[in-house]
Amino acid sequence: MDIMYRSTRGKAGEVTASQAILQGLAEDGGLYVPDKLPVLPVKLDELAGLDYRQTAYIIMKEFLSDFTEEELKDCIDKAYDDKFDCKEIAPLKKAGDAYFLELFHGATIAFKDMALSILPHLMTTSAKKNNVDGKIMILTATSGDTGKAALAGFADVEGTGIIVFYPKHGVSVIQEKQMVTQKGDNTYVVGIEGNFDDAQTGVKKMFGNSELAARMKDKGYRFSSANSINIGRLVPQVVYYIYTYGKLIADGVIKAGDKVNYVVPTGNFGNILAAYYAKAMGIPVNKLICASNENKVLYDFFATGTYDRNREFILTSSPSMDILISSNLERLIYAIAGEDGNATSKFMKELSDSGKYSITDSMKEELGVFYGGYCDEKKTADTIKKIYGSSGYVIDTHTAVAAGVYEEYKNNTGDNTVTVIASTASPYKFTRSVMNAIDDKYDSMTDFELVDRLSELSKVPVPAAIEEIRTAPVLHDRVCDKSRMQDVVEDILRL
Ligand SMILES: *Cc1c(COP(=O)(O)O)cnc(C)c1O
Repeated sequence: MDIMYRSTRGKAGEVTASQAILQGLAEDGGLYVPDKLPVLPVKLDELAGLDYRQTAYIIMKEFLSDFTEEELKDCIDKAYDDKFDCKEIAPLKKAGDAYFLELFHGATIAFKDMALSILPHLMTTSAKKNNVDGKIMILTATSGDTGKAALAGFADVEGTGIIVFYPKHGVSVIQEKQMVTQKGDNTYVVGIEGNFDDAQTGVKKMFGNSELAARMKDKGYRFSSANSINIGRLVPQVVYYIYTYGKLIADGVIKAGDKVNYVVPTGNFGNILAAYYAKAMGIPVNKLICASNENKVLYDFFATGTYDRNREFILTSSPSMDILISSNLERLIYAIAGEDGNATSKFMKELSDSGKYSITDSMKEELGVFYGGYCDEKKTADTIKKIYGSSGYVIDTHTAVAAGVYEEYKNNTGDNTVTVIASTASPYKFTRSVMNAIDDKYDSMTDFELVDRLSELSKVPVPAAIEEIRTAPVLHDRVCDKSRMQDVVEDILRL
């Protein structure tokens, strides 16, 4: 079955998977979606015998139908290798009454590695397939996690380069250190005097600047984006939900055909959308539990059918979920609107004009598989402490939002379905918040002292990603005002 990609807003033509990956966003401003969702190419119980790479291949080949077997296997082999610190790539750990799907064993210890390890290879392969020449320059604004994962993914990948902008005073000490020590001749990291929105706006402006694009082209470059609206980030995320189902069968926890719940700590709606696609392909799912932090736009959306971003932006201890516009929700809207591009377009126009929209009753009926919950700061911290206290297992703040929501879900519903919680970051990435949750006596310690204490408490060795940055030299010290981002790009690329 050959799958083509079309825009959620219905006004761009159909493209192949590789073209969609190269383009990122469709020309009409919509997001690319597959024209039909593939079905699982194997029986459920056959999943139990497949390792991560084998699962990745059988699932991704369904979505990326214009890639040859050799091309796709090459991308998978380059991505899921010993950059991951365990053979399973995405291991399952049981703690309390849930299974934690650890998605943080890659180079930068956050779940973004699952997709950003393979995206650079999908992109360079796509460029070759479409005879696109020139060096691909990735421009990214980051609030912390995406930047480092993208840097690690693109570092020294031939035919690519990457420039990351981050808010100089808006990321954690560990996040900044991870970025400014990044190796690779093709990597550039720039701190800006401004916040994350300024960084994002500056990057978007450059993407929209045709005069700049023309000068880039003269010098043999083309811009591309690594953010989560790219279908090349979504497809690799479908894999681990399916892989996990197979693992649960292999471990004797479920029989093929039994339903499971997935709980996903959500920001941009990319990770949970991948779970929704896994269900559409044939994985038996009871509920997809969407967990928000205090920025609970999605909770309100599932409760009322109205998406409303007109509210205060709250800084929380789970910063990667501090988001008021969940871009990937557009793909779900398109699906529940009966794949109607005009209808989706209208909702998105309302969102950009007035900051809100309300879906119809018949669309609401399509949302039955979702359960929305949220977890405030106190409950997040209490959940970390409680799970540590009862099982010795330490989770990060984002995962704790999900675990807190699951506890409430279970109390409300009495549902005993086997449940998998997506564990999106290593606790070492958010050491200070995690340690403070366990005991406030840690407040006066430095970040690296806390790292050592966490290792003693959790009995998990300090990951290489953290060990490295203790002593690694700072390789990037560019800082600029938010108004001078383009000047910095021109300087770096000698335009
Ligand atoms: C990005 C991120 C999330 C949110 O994922 P979405 O796909 O944006 O919903 C959750 N946790 C962590 C640690 C992240 O880095």
